[in-house]
Amino acid sequence: MSVEIEAVTRDFGTAANPALRGVSMALRSGEFVALLGPSGSGKTTLLRILAGLDFPDAGRVLIGGRDVAQVPARDRNVGVVFQNYALFRHMTVFENVAFGLRVRPRAQRPANAEIDRRVRELLALVQIPELAPRYPEQISGGQRQRVALARALAIEPQLLLLDEPFGALDALVRKDVRRWVRGLHDRLGLTSLLVTHDQEEAMEMADRVAVMEQGRIVQFDPPHTLIDAPASAFVARFVGDANRLAASVHGGRLDIAGFGGFDAAGLPEGAAEIFVRPDDLRILPPRDGLAPGLVEWSRPAERGRWKMLVAVGEHRLEGYGERAFERGAACALEFQALTAFGARGERVSINGREAAPSLR
Ligand code: ADP
Ligand code: MG
Repeated sequence: MSVEIEAVTRDFGTAANPALRGVSMALRSGEFVALLGPSGSGKTTLLRILAGLDFPDAGRVLIGGRDVAQVPARDRNVGVVFQNYALFRHMTVFENVAFGLRVRPRAQRPANAEIDRRVRELLALVQIPELAPRYPEQISGGQRQRVALARALAIEPQLLLLDEPFGALDALVRKDVRRWVRGLHDRLGLTSLLVTHDQEEAMEMADRVAVMEQGRIVQFDPPHTLIDAPASAFVARFVGDANRLAASVHGGRLDIAGFGGFDAAGLPEGAAEIFVRPDDLRILPPRDGLAPGLVEWSRPAERGRWKMLVAVGEHRLEGYGERAFERGAACALEFQALTAFGARGERVSINGREAAPSLR
C-alpha cells in the first residue's frame, strides 16, 4: 500500500513553531520506513494524521492512491501500535486481539466462529497462542508488545504504523523483537512506518529513514547514505556516533581548537563543525606531527582492538587503538576521515591520507 504525504502542516497553536511545517514524503508499497527525530520533532503528529486520529491544517494524505481527508480512522485499514501498547486491562489477550473485528459495523463483522479462528491464527503468528486467556497484567512486557501487534494486525491492515513500540522492552528482548517485527513485515507484505528517536533501531530496521527536525523532514535516505553523506550537521549529530568538534575557518584553513588546522577548500570563513567517527580516529603512542591527548579509559573491543576515550583540552573523543593504554597515559590521535560543515551548511568530506598528514 503506497502512501503519499504532500505539504502537510499542523499547528496546535501551543508551541512557538507548528508541529509539522510542510512535510512531504512518499512510501513505496512494501517498504519499511522509519521516522527518526528527537522528542517534539513532530513524529507522532504525522503518524496520528496517517491513522486518521488527527487532521492536517493544510496538505494532502493519500493511502493507496486515495485521498483520505474524508475517510475516518476505522475505514483506513491501518494498524497502529502505540508506545504504551494501550491494551484494554479488563479484557483477556484474546479479547484484546478480537476487539478490532468485534467493533466493525454489523455488515462487515465476521461471524463469531470466524473471529475465533482469526484470533487463534494471529496469536500463533506472534507466537503466544497459550496466552489467550490471560489478562495484560499477567504477561511480560515483551508478550504485551506481541499482543499489541496481533491486535493491530487483526484487521488485516496493509499499512502498519508503529509509534516507539519497543521503548518498554529491555535491551536484550528489544533486539530480538525488532528482528522479528521486520521479518513479519516482510512475510506479510506490509508497508510500515516506524516512529522512533533511537537511531540504531531506525538504521537496523528500515529500508529508508526520514530524519525529522522541528516539524520538517531534513533528510530521507537509506541508512548508508545517512552515514556516508549526512545532509546537515543536525543529521550527523543524530545518526551514527561521531565525535563532534567545534572549529573555525580563517584564511582558507580549518582550525580545530587543540588540534591545529588543515586545508579547508570549499568551506567559507567563519564557524564550522567537524564530525569524526570513532572508527576513523586511530589512537597511537605519542608521535611528532599528530595531536597529543590523554587516555581516560580503554576497553577491549571487537577484532582485537581497544576502544578508548581520549581528552584533548576540553574535547573528549572516542577512537580505537591496537593496544590498551593506562588511564592517564599520553597518546596521539590520527584522523583517518572526517566530515566538516561550514557556517551555511556546506559539507566537505576528507578521507584517509588527505586528512591525516595535514592535521598537525
Ligand atoms: P514527537 O512524537 O516527535 O516527540 P509530537 O508530534 O508528539 O513529537 O509533538 C510535536 C509538537 O507538537 C510538540 O511541540 C508537542 O508539544 C506538540 N503537540 C503534539 N500534540 C499536541 C496536542 N494534541 N496539542 C497541543 N500540542 C501538541
Ligand atoms: Mg512521539
